[in-house]
Amino acid sequence: MKIIKPDIAFINEINRDTGFSLKSCMQCGTCSVVCDLSPKNKPFPRKEMFWASWGLKEKLMGDPDIWLCHQCGDCTTYCPRGVKPGDVLSSIRKICYYHYAKPKFLGTILKKPAYLPFVFAVPVLFLLLVLFFAGTYIIPEGDINYSTFLPHKYLNTSFSVLLLFVLWGVILSVRSFWNALDKHSSGIDKKSNLFKISISVIKEILIHENFKKCTTQKFRYPAHFLIFWGFMLLILTTILAIVNVLFFEYPFSIWHPFKVLGNIAGIMFLAGCCLVIFQRITNRKNNSIYTYTDWMFLISILIISISGFLTEFARLGNWRLAYHIYFFHLIFTWILIIYLPYTKFSHIIYRTLATIHARYTGR
Ligand code: SF4
Ligand code: SF4
Repeated sequence: MKIIKPDIAFINEINRDTGFSLKSCMQCGTCSVVCDLSPKNKPFPRKEMFWASWGLKEKLMGDPDIWLCHQCGDCTTYCPRGVKPGDVLSSIRKICYYHYAKPKFLGTILKKPAYLPFVFAVPVLFLLLVLFFAGTYIIPEGDINYSTFLPHKYLNTSFSVLLLFVLWGVILSVRSFWNALDKHSSGIDKKSNLFKISISVIKEILIHENFKKCTTQKFRYPAHFLIFWGFMLLILTTILAIVNVLFFEYPFSIWHPFKVLGNIAGIMFLAGCCLVIFQRITNRKNNSIYTYTDWMFLISILIISISGFLTEFARLGNWRLAYHIYFFHLIFTWILIIYLPYTKFSHIIYRTLATIHARYTGR
């Protein structure tokens, strides 16, 4: 006999996030039928609704199917009980970030609005420390040159240290996640080739194949595509710029290839954010509820893209407030990096791994 121990806090958190009681689900299976991404064998999200209402947190933390969902909202639109299965899966994914992410204390302060000042305090203190070591905590006189305020040697070193710290956390989280997937799978399909599967999954993710199947939220595909590629190109530009300043003079001209690439990426990123916000405000069809962390993440990336452009304009126009804008931009950029394992951004990693694992095990 198997004794089931429901995790009541888990059930309550999902109910809070979705604004509905999981108990309202009558297990009709409509959600699984309308979902274009759900496979024929053991389809989702009906079974996840059942597990969630029983509080089976551990089982869901190792379930690859919650990551195969792309939150298109089609199931939520058709659910006869208004239980919002798409939002339930989104809430479970959010719980998953906190479940696996390390160190835990950063996740705790991010989760509650009351701790918002601490969320800002971490990057602000870190930046002040860098300025203190660089000895440049006074606003420089003369033409605007950000490297006189925060020398690149210090900026790049602190950025790399921060990135390594986050990467270390991500590696630990991903290892636990992969083990959980293993534990809940029925074993490896002997005929499958991990390398080939990984390549095909990555290709699928890069071209956003599955987002094209969303029918309720038409903007979801272009919005996600723009944010994804805007972010990737911004990362690439940052790496190129870091390497470049080791050898060449800073600041770059506006027509420097890295600047042009960075600006194109910034426009894509900003356009994607605006599309998501527009869709959230105007799409009342499936009546989705977005949580505090959902909004916080979206607003942060919107602020990063706007302040990024303002930083550039301020330098070109020699604005008096240029260094303040630059500092503000750095705070939000570092918030994004420091809290990456706890936010929606980490779904890039989890979804990729879960999809690879699902195919590798013959899901
Ligand atoms: S979530 Fe809605 S559509 Fe899905 S099984 Fe429950 S009641 Fe049916
Ligand atoms: S939100 Fe979309 S992808 Fe996710 S389970 Fe529902 S229908 Fe499927």
